[in-house]
Amino acid sequence: MAGSVDAVGHERASLRTAGIIAVGTELLTPDRIDTNSLHLTAQLNSIGIDVVFKSVAGDDEAQLSDEIAHALARCDVLVTSGGLGPTSDDVTRDAVARALGLPLEEDPDLLARIRERFERRGLAMPEINRRQAAVVRGARVLPNPNGTAPGQWIETGSRVVVLLPGPPRELEPMFDQHVKPALANRSGGRMVRRRVIRVAGLPESRVEELAHPAYAPLASGRVPVATTILASPGIIELHLSVRGDAHDELDRALQAGVEAVARAVGPAVFSIDGRTLEQVVGDRLLERGWFVATAESCTGGLVAARLTSVPGSSGWFRGGTVAYDNRVKLSALDVAPNLLSEHGAVSEPVAEAMADGVRRRLAADVGVAITGIAGPTGGSPEKPIGTVVIAVSVAESTVARTHRLPGDRQLVRQHSVVLALDAVRRAVQPDPTK
Ligand code: ATP
Ligand code: MG
Repeated sequence: MAGSVDAVGHERASLRTAGIIAVGTELLTPDRIDTNSLHLTAQLNSIGIDVVFKSVAGDDEAQLSDEIAHALARCDVLVTSGGLGPTSDDVTRDAVARALGLPLEEDPDLLARIRERFERRGLAMPEINRRQAAVVRGARVLPNPNGTAPGQWIETGSRVVVLLPGPPRELEPMFDQHVKPALANRSGGRMVRRRVIRVAGLPESRVEELAHPAYAPLASGRVPVATTILASPGIIELHLSVRGDAHDELDRALQAGVEAVARAVGPAVFSIDGRTLEQVVGDRLLERGWFVATAESCTGGLVAARLTSVPGSSGWFRGGTVAYDNRVKLSALDVAPNLLSEHGAVSEPVAEAMADGVRRRLAADVGVAITGIAGPTGGSPEKPIGTVVIAVSVAESTVARTHRLPGDRQLVRQHSVVLALDAVRRAVQPDPTK
């Protein structure tokens, strides 16, 4: 196993695995969610340290101490977040000390710094803040320029325990500036690299069927590439990752893997470089110097919101109409009244007329329209809930497609947005037959 030599000449084993404990009773309620571990995981992975478990613990010293002792047996690096404040429910310091069998000691320099922080603001330090100067014996103090709670770095045998404050704007800079470089030095030069392939408009099973022959052999290659598939409404993601210490070799293997899998899945792949669907749509429009306009019924403006979330969208997005009521379809989009009476609002002729109408009215090059039945009411045997029609209009042609989408109102709407964005992507790409 690769290792490093410490100051007194001892060979040290590499740090390869990490565990994370998010501390805070509020994180055990439905109101707050632990996001710190996501940031920590991304950063740890980038230096080749795998997160092998994480947990959430309340502000109870005895329970937290048990959790820490249990965790320490399972990883090389244990990172805690939260519970370093001055109040009596901030128990992480005490719990760690108890789990490690070490005393807490007051650090006079640290106490002076905390006192100064208050004095700079013309305040006397409240006595309870003394708690924040308590350091586990032997710990290195990690400065916190964004708050009063300092972090701590503790070596215990071959393991490392790191205590970080809970607020993300304090935890993130502390980890990135003080902890990550120190861990990177001891992770044996290993790293993990990831790439994401994004696919729209195909079900997960179909993506798996297409991708499997390409990714299965990658797992047993000289540099193994691991693949996982993640599904969300309308979008399937293939995550490819490699790990090791030969960085150029990793990059080459990952790039080759991404190309092979993307080729196998085909034109439903819209991104292999991290871009979102709306970014890809915007980039393609910009390339052609085109503008898009939206006409939305059942999505109520969600497509326009996604498009305008991209910085610079004024360079390719004209605007949109929320044509919810049929009267708006008539008055704002010039849909002919007989189309509505003959085919109904959720129909291909009406969707096409909406797309044409918004394209002309807003002087755009591409018009996209969505009309559908998101539920929970309004379904019929011919047009059940989840029936959504999406049309795209460009100068030469207007095309509509009817989809039957699964799930509740929320899911149907989310899925419709993806299908509409993808329909624009396909209409704007250099060869629309692809
Ligand atoms: P403080 O000195 O601010 O009390 P602390 O280390 O005691 O620092 P906590 O009291 O545990 O931190 O958390 C303070 C705030 O930080 C919480 O209210 C919450 O908004 C945020 N926070 C805590 N833990 C997390 C987490 N795991 N993910 C995201 N946010 C968190
Ligand atoms: Mg607190």
